[in-house]
Formats: sequence, structure tokens, C-alpha cells
Amino acid sequence: MSTSSPAATTPFPTPTLYAAERGLTLENVALADIATDFGTPTYVYSRAALTAAFESWRNALGGRGLVCYAVKANSNLGILSVFARLGAGFDIVSGGELARVLAAGGDAGKVVFSGVGKSRDEMRQALEAGIRCFNIESAAELDRLDAVAGELGRKAPIALRVNPDVDPKTHPYISTGLKSNKFGVAFGEALALYRRAASLPNLKVSGIACHIGSQLLDPAPVAEAAAKVLELVDQLAADGITLEHIDLGGGLGIRYRDETPPSVAEYLAPLLKVFEGRNEELCFEPGRSLVGNAGLLLTRVEYLKHGEEKNFAIVDAAMNDLARPALYDAYHEAVAVTPAGVAAQCYEIVGPICESGDFLAHDRQLALREGDLVALLSAGAYGMTMSSNYNTRPRAAEVIVDGDRVLLVRERETVAALYAGERRIDD
Ligand SMILES: *Cc1c(COP(=O)(O)O)cnc(C)c1O
Repeated sequence: MSTSSPAATTPFPTPTLYAAERGLTLENVALADIATDFGTPTYVYSRAALTAAFESWRNALGGRGLVCYAVKANSNLGILSVFARLGAGFDIVSGGELARVLAAGGDAGKVVFSGVGKSRDEMRQALEAGIRCFNIESAAELDRLDAVAGELGRKAPIALRVNPDVDPKTHPYISTGLKSNKFGVAFGEALALYRRAASLPNLKVSGIACHIGSQLLDPAPVAEAAAKVLELVDQLAADGITLEHIDLGGGLGIRYRDETPPSVAEYLAPLLKVFEGRNEELCFEPGRSLVGNAGLLLTRVEYLKHGEEKNFAIVDAAMNDLARPALYDAYHEAVAVTPAGVAAQCYEIVGPICESGDFLAHDRQLALREGDLVALLSAGAYGMTMSSNYNTRPRAAEVIVDGDRVLLVRERETVAALYAGERRIDD
């Protein structure tokens, strides 16, 4: 029977409950069974949670705009195909991500291409696929795209990514809308750049874009940015440049620990107010809020090490699998998967990598024995996509739980595959 519900005390919003004999479950599947069948470490996602997150965006928008999932948050084909089937668009930042979207059955006509460093090859690839819009971040990029489109005999749809210079009040590494960072074009330069874009023969001025940061917990800065963008749109119209769509980026935060992010509807309400009575199509690029709380990282305790000052739970996942704690000092809830029947102690949860920065969680009160499973929650976004092979560690398997089913959407890497492209020197 259900002894306690971590869902009540942790941020994980999906149906995650302790059943007395089965331990922690996701949808109708026991995480312990997933570990037995697929090994550890394994990323586990809930299709119901992915779908619910997408629907909450779509419902809150009420047909007023397009949701373009930011692929960099989690680019597994299984995840992309779930969103593609729901009718999502996609926000990409590389040709590689475009290839993934197409392989997953995504619609190129709903793809927006962001990023400051698009190569000629990537531009060609996106033009040939027929994407919906290039979000342009500099004058040089505008000229390059015009040239590439001309060579292909196509017209490239563009938006300028403008930098509204508002403070999103988030972590400095993930704030992107301030004047001092590399993203977007300054407001003061936008009018001149739009004029230039309109004069180039192989471009079609289509919209405007902004993205001010990530893990936003307050809707006010985005609404402020939107109001600034709208002023610019009206200035452009007075100048004879009319825009069809306004892309307000991603950034809605999620609960990792005790944050209280707005719901999608609460986040969008002040924004939609700004656009009341307007005809432009709206577009959003949520990443984290669609996948973050739909996934967890399942790992097994290799050793317990009880020291004088600290206790360590050395698990088989590491910073190469989940980099956010080492990189941003990010917090992920850690939950024991099966009730251990031993006393809880305070643990540092660390991986096997030879770096003292290799930790997954600090100071967690957990009842653990060697061989037990731990779930690191809220790991669906920027988990697998930021993983590496440091220490020649094959990357984790990924599965999607769908009701009673567990679908393997990425096989665990083999060591041989890691160096398959490398060559010895024998002379
Ligand atoms: C990273 C990024 C997103 C997604 O951000 P989230 O915080 O994951 O919602 C959207 N648009 C652009 C341009 C980005 O760089």
C-alpha cells in the first residue's frame, strides 16, 4: 500500500508513488524493474508527463500561438516523436538538431532555427528542409543567409532576435537578454537591421524573436520584454515593415526543490494581455518546462563510505551523465527507490569520476544499503543532452514509460562504440 507519497514533498509532478512491495513507480511501472531490465544509470521519462506538459502550453495558448519545443533541452528521438505527434513545432540550434527533428517525424514547416553561429552548411540544410524561420542574431549572419539562399534560389524567412535588455532575475549563466551577453541584436540597432533585411533579395522578413533567459520564476520580465518588442513592431510597421509573427522564446522555470514557478497559464496571462487585439501569430520556445519534470535519472549505489566528517553514497551515475550539479551547483531531489529498512543518514551522493566536483547531491538524508537504487528527479531537461563520455564512460540508456510499457529509446552505449572512430598509430 502507499506508505508515503514523494510527489507531495518533491517536485516531481507525475504519478510517482511508493507501493509497499514495488518501491517507487512511474506511471504503472516500478523503477526497480526498469533497473533490472535495462541496467543503470538510465534516464527514465514519463510519456504522460511529457504529454501533460505540452497540453498545458497548448491549452494556455488557446490556439493563439505555436509551441516550438526547444530541442536542446532533450533531443532524444523518442521525446521528439512524442511532441511531433502532438503537433509541436521545434526550436533548433544546429543542423544536427534539425536532422533529429526530421528523423523523429517533426514538421520542418514548424521549425525555428536559433543560435549565434549558424554555418553555411547548416543554413543550406535548413533552407532545403523548408524551415519556418531563421532567428538571426547579427548583421553578418543576415548577409550570409541572403547569399546562401541566393545560391539555392530560395527565399529565407527571417526574424531578428532582439535583446530587450531586461533582467530575468535568474542564474547569470542562463540569463541571455541583457546587453552584456552575446545573444541577439541591441534594440537600438534593430530598425536599421530590419531595413537592411528588407532590402536583401533572398530574405523574407517574417517576424521578431526574443529569449531573455532560462528557469524564469517570475512572469513580469517576459511581459516587460514583450511590451518592448511590441513597441518595436509598431515602429517597424510605421516604417513599412510588417511582421507576421512574434516569437517570445522559452525560459519558463520548473520546481527542482522549493521554487514556486507560475503555471503555464499564469506565466502567459500577462503576456497575452500585452498582445490582446493584435493579429501577429505568437510563438514560444519552451524547453525545460516541457521535459524537466518528466524525467529522472535512475542510478544504483555501488558503495557506501562512512567517514568521520561525511558519508558518501558512491553511485554508478556521475557528472558525465548529469552535469547540472557540478556545472551550476543545481539541486536535484534524490529519492531512495525501495524502502531500505535501515536508518537514514546524511549522504553526499557522488559518482565514480576522478574529480572532486563529481557530485550529484549534497547533504541528503537517505536510508540506503549497497546495491540500492536512487532516483534523481527533475532530470528530463539538460540532463542527457549535456552528458559526455568523460572517463570513457558509456552514456546512459534512455527509456520512456507509457502506462504499463517501457520503451527503450536509446541503448546504453558500448565502450567499443566510444573509440570506434579512433585510430592507433603502429609505426
Ligand atoms: C535554451 C533556449 C530555449 C529554451 O529555454 P528553456 O529555459 O529550456 O525553456 C529557447 N529559446 C532559445 C533561443 C534558447 O537558447
